[in-house]
Amino acid sequence: MFKDIVSNEEAKSFLINELKNGKKEGTYIFYGEDKELLMKFALSFMKALNCKNEEFDFCDRCESCLRVNTLTHGDLEIIEDENGVKVESIREIGRIASSATYEGGNRVFIIKDCEKLKKESANALLKMIEEPEEGNFFILLSKNLNLLPTIKSRATIVKIKNRSPEDFGITLREYKFFLGKGKDIEEYKKYNLDIEEAYSYEKLEEPIQNYIKLKKELLENKDSEIEKGLIENKIKFYKGLINLYKNIEYIDIAERISLGEKISFSCENDKITAMEICDYLCHFIKDFNKLEKIMKIKNKMGSNISLKLMFRVLISEL
Ligand SMILES: [Zn+2]
Repeated sequence: MFKDIVSNEEAKSFLINELKNGKKEGTYIFYGEDKELLMKFALSFMKALNCKNEEFDFCDRCESCLRVNTLTHGDLEIIEDENGVKVESIREIGRIASSATYEGGNRVFIIKDCEKLKKESANALLKMIEEPEEGNFFILLSKNLNLLPTIKSRATIVKIKNRSPEDFGITLREYKFFLGKGKDIEEYKKYNLDIEEAYSYEKLEEPIQNYIKLKKELLENKDSEIEKGLIENKIKFYKGLINLYKNIEYIDIAERISLGEKISFSCENDKITAMEICDYLCHFIKDFNKLEKIMKIKNKMGSNISLKLMFRVLISEL
């Protein structure tokens, strides 16, 4: 049910009202910093639009709700591309949108990272939402409102605020440890884990490698033991990174470079984990010029610059 989502009371009651108004189609922009929370709201709205038990809410038990939760619902389309959704993918959505729905209910297209949409894709998207066919709902997820004004004017804009430490029932220290990332905090609380005990930066590779291994396993097998192991290892490497930062002035340049190489080696085949580590290290950096320099390298990650170089520079600049 909507009430089970912690925080964002306004957004929840707004969406419930939209359901009560019995909309037949629509375009929404859910925007905010917390990407996972945006997704949670989008999936909840999808569930509520199709739930077999609840009229203006979702039960999380019926077949439709369960299939949304496992992302196997026939009328749920999630479109994502870490470099911004391509125009071909938008056209493909257009084709799907003009066909009949699988289940005869409402079909929801969730388009992620819309702040990264290039002009061509944005224009194709605009064309599609201009005259939506009945039963189609487009939910655009975006970090901010830097979208085409013409898209914004056709969409209903819903702000999804970041959750505060109070929303989660944790201390500011715990909140900062996880950089306010909701999913991590929820799992940390669920499994009642510890963030106090230190972990040495010299053993950083171990939890990073375990984390990547478990992440793959979890894709195949939604097991709570694997989920727990995943967050445990993430906490470990976060602690290792904190320990690294605390000792940084005692670590000479040669050791820093070798450490950067070791870290890049442990996450070589997993760019997302590499980004998570990079973001964690960046949050220690208070010097704006240094941060800018690192951001420039980080933004090139999609192109040919190597992870090795990024981590070498990053750790040298700490
Ligand atoms: Zn349901």
